[in-house]
Amino acid sequence: MAEKETEELNEGKGLNFVEQLVYDDLKAGKNGGRLNTRFPPEPNGYLHIGHAKAICMDFGIAEKFGGTCNLRFDDTNPVKEDVEYVDSIREDIHWLGFDWGDREYYASDYFPQLYDLAVRMIKEGKAYVDDQTSEQIAAQKGTPTEPGQESPYRNRSVEENLDLFERMNKGEFDEGSRVLRAKIDMASDNMHFRDPIMYRIIKHPHHRTGTKWNVYPMYDFAHGQSDYFEGVTHSICTLEFVPHRPLYEYFVKELADESYCPRQIEFNRLNLTYTVMSKRKLLQLVKENLVNGWDDPRMPTISGMRRRGFTPRSIRNFMDRIGYTKYEALNSMSLLEHAVREDLNAISTRVMAVINPVKMVITNYPEDKVESVSMENNPEDPEAGTHEMPFSREIYIERDDFMENPPKKFFRLAPDKEVRLKGAYIVKCTGVKKDADGNIEEIYCTYDPDTRSGLPGSMRKVKGTLHWVSAGHAVNATARLYDRLFNVENPAAETDRYFRDMLNPDSLKVVENIKLEPYIAEHAEPGEHFQFQRIGYFTPDKSSAPGNLIFNRTIALKDSWEKEKNK
Ligand code: ATP
Ligand code: MG
Repeated sequence: MAEKETEELNEGKGLNFVEQLVYDDLKAGKNGGRLNTRFPPEPNGYLHIGHAKAICMDFGIAEKFGGTCNLRFDDTNPVKEDVEYVDSIREDIHWLGFDWGDREYYASDYFPQLYDLAVRMIKEGKAYVDDQTSEQIAAQKGTPTEPGQESPYRNRSVEENLDLFERMNKGEFDEGSRVLRAKIDMASDNMHFRDPIMYRIIKHPHHRTGTKWNVYPMYDFAHGQSDYFEGVTHSICTLEFVPHRPLYEYFVKELADESYCPRQIEFNRLNLTYTVMSKRKLLQLVKENLVNGWDDPRMPTISGMRRRGFTPRSIRNFMDRIGYTKYEALNSMSLLEHAVREDLNAISTRVMAVINPVKMVITNYPEDKVESVSMENNPEDPEAGTHEMPFSREIYIERDDFMENPPKKFFRLAPDKEVRLKGAYIVKCTGVKKDADGNIEEIYCTYDPDTRSGLPGSMRKVKGTLHWVSAGHAVNATARLYDRLFNVENPAAETDRYFRDMLNPDSLKVVENIKLEPYIAEHAEPGEHFQFQRIGYFTPDKSSAPGNLIFNRTIALKDSWEKEKNK
């Protein structure tokens, strides 16, 4: 960290509101001056860009103040959880650039302690077994303005409660037949205090503990205590947990004292336009084959964005820009895409690829001559150097870059008009060849040898510059042109519409036989970023292989959506 930044940090300047609260606690010497956060994903799906916001906060704040951040798998519901998700979560956090060292924990590690605490609370008359169904319990909950009704089982004896709870865990009762509830206050203003459920019966094997348990703790009974058992000092989460906080504190108080007590702090979750962020909905997209798996490049998952070619830095920069507040908002996808373009502009190698090729023959260029022209790898980076590209008599240009009867402001190629071939020569169109249906098959040009890039003649003014690839050297590839998954700004808000109807039908276009300059094919390693000049940013797909090159378009050079909206 720069000296100025360290100084500012010491004085608590330039902090967001969560950092400010943490800073104040550290200054006050709370918890012995320790800072320990945690990121607590439930392994029931892949992480998405919303989780990235939480990760940047949880790990970022620990980094900033010299604390630690635990990775805790919140694995309290065996029905939906899977090791596949555990592995993907680890990979995604590492990819974002964060590390939890040896502090990888599981809520299931605390099942024995949680069970003991539940038994203790039963003995102290603070918990009871309720034999009602979840529907009956819900019906007695009351409303925020009306008190709830007490369960007929609320005043069971301690002995009976102990016996029943033990037998629930032994597997003697069916799922849904009984629960353990905290005995708090059925008339509380806070609905979460109306005798919340602590444990339910689940008879599905757990991915870590197998069939050892038949009762599993609810989120509210597990989270705060897990924080406590781990030594977490600041439990940072999203705003929907604000009403849970008193209950968090209620349960934690069963364990904590003045020397150490975890504290919950909430910030606004990330919502993004043109996508959805609920794991349930993402799972639905996968299950109904509306996308090709969790890492489909159109998904808002971290693995999808990685496969698409988004960079960790662009995601982290985006999170810095939108910041952390106490108010829910819907952030623009364009802002994330802007951060992606900004980073890719700085790091990607400029290359030439023709997506919709038509052949150009340069009739006055010798038939078997090949020249090598030098191309700048990245004008933004003086260290990036150059690479060589072959030029010859037959090349490919984009079909759209030629018009036989151009309108007035068309500055690309047309009969009798001149354009510059980037890095090479100025050429003039002398004619075309068409097939029987009138489609252009070849474009004929002559070149001016004095205009080679670098020679004084190249200074001559022409309006258009085209990208091109030498036909005899071109390598074929497939391009997958990705776009936004939904064409509705806020799909989550459209509760009465089916997913299918809101999907953008043009979210994926596959283009075969695009033409690459050889350099691209030689460097098509996973994780490489290219700017196909005038087209967009591309990265090799994970399935790409020599002989079957497949490129994902990360993003077009310009934001066509914003333009669309401002029309
Ligand atoms: P579920 O839909 O299963 O409740 P979840 O999105 O809350 O899923 P978790 O695995 O429980 O998923 O989330 C782990 C952490 O990520 C939590 O602390 C949660 O607050 C945070 N998180 C989840 N979604 C977002 C979001 N959109 N923005 C910011 N943080 C988020
Ligand atoms: Mg959750």
